[in-house]
Amino acid sequence: MFSETTSLAIALQQWRAVLGESGVRLDPATLARFQQDTMCSAAYAEVVIAPLSAAQVSACMVIARRHGIAVHAVSTGHNWGYGSASTTHASCVLMDLSGMKRIVSFDEELSVVTLEPGVTQAALAGYLQEQGLPWLTPVTGAGPTCSVLGNALERGFGITPHTDHFQAVLGLEAVLADGSLYRSPMSLGATAPCFKWGVGPYLDGLFSQSGLGVVTQMSIALVKKPPVIQPFYFWVAEDEGLEAALDGIKRLLELAPGQIGGINLMNRTRLLTMASDAQVVGMSEAQQRSAAAALGLPAWMGVGSIYCQPAQHRSLKRMIRTELNRFASKSLFQTRGQLTAMARLLGKLPGGWSRRWQRTLHKMLQGIALMQGQPSEVALPLAYAAGAKALAGAPLNPARDNCGLI
Ligand SMILES: Cc1cc2nc3c(=O)[nH]c(=O)nc-3n(C[C@H](O)[C@H](O)[C@H](O)COP(=O)(O)OP(=O)(O)OC[C@H]3O[C@@H](n4cnc5c(N)ncnc54)[C@H](O)[C@@H]3O)c2cc1C
Repeated sequence: MFSETTSLAIALQQWRAVLGESGVRLDPATLARFQQDTMCSAAYAEVVIAPLSAAQVSACMVIARRHGIAVHAVSTGHNWGYGSASTTHASCVLMDLSGMKRIVSFDEELSVVTLEPGVTQAALAGYLQEQGLPWLTPVTGAGPTCSVLGNALERGFGITPHTDHFQAVLGLEAVLADGSLYRSPMSLGATAPCFKWGVGPYLDGLFSQSGLGVVTQMSIALVKKPPVIQPFYFWVAEDEGLEAALDGIKRLLELAPGQIGGINLMNRTRLLTMASDAQVVGMSEAQQRSAAAALGLPAWMGVGSIYCQPAQHRSLKRMIRTELNRFASKSLFQTRGQLTAMARLLGKLPGGWSRRWQRTLHKMLQGIALMQGQPSEVALPLAYAAGAKALAGAPLNPARDNCGLI
């Protein structure tokens, strides 16, 4: 518990002078929002401060340091599965940067976006669409409300060609504990940084998964949407085939680096959760097997995507199919248009079989939208599979809805 010592009381006053009353929150509703976690670990948030600019972050850090108060910064705080927004220990002030929502610049020539911590996947995708910029948002399964900067800083992973999100970070700005500002060497000029390593020792990595500074801006390389984005799916019928499948996936990724995005491998439990209305959590292994068999689901299923030029498409497909034939019991290459047509056709047929397939096709289409850089909530219902109820009319948020997944 954070005891309101004299120094904390003075710090609160000084933060209020910088941020105004609304920027320093101790009200139960705000604190409750930040004390939720998807794990069973203790979640703390006794004071939330919410600066709106790098200058305010700096002033807040000077005050915190003066009074010896630890600060834990989050961007959107949706680090579900890894502590959510909560601070790591009780006597620590939470700094909420979700109000810093500026997309500072987009350099079309270098394909680099510079943005603040509160810019979500949905906000970046919306910006790119409004401006008619054909670049891919670095989406993840965590969905539209998550910070692009926060995810990259935590070394998040996605399915678009720049799968390793911190690898795509070309420069950043961070406020240090004493309030001073760090900027990557190549960010100091007038243009966006285009060379990750800059000059001299590489320091940006110090700010990744460390808490050594509050990152207030980041420049990230985006991938221009290629003309062909083609999903492929493969089945691994039995558990015994998993080892060969993992070797095969490794070979696939070596085959065409940059042209095959992240490959998502899903087990029977996950497939059942996505494809059926049954309560999968709590089923025995044998029950899962028979439920999966009834729906024609394999032990494992993989989804990948090809990003390429039309002239490369046919040969890439052929190479991938040859590799898949070595370990997969079945494979499928379907375009968005083909899946949409199938869904439309199934919509005309009656019965449970047709409904189940429509549901599967809907998920597949949502998955393709992700491959095309459109954030979606397609993966989040997994966290609700044990029966948690989502708040009606609001984006999914497992921490708020008291659920999660391991
Ligand atoms: C169903 C499901 C699917 C998921 N799929 C994916 C996935 O495909 N890929 C993936 O990578 N993750 C995934 N996640 C995990 C997680 O939800 C995401 O990584 C999410 O983007 C992290 O939350 P955030 O963007 O709000 O970051 P935040 O919670 O804001 O930040 C994460 C952490 O980074 C640090 N930090 C953040 N901002 C700053 C800053 N400005 N300065 C200093 N330190 C900072 C803090 O330590 C913070 O706790 C998934 C989770 C679920 C439940």
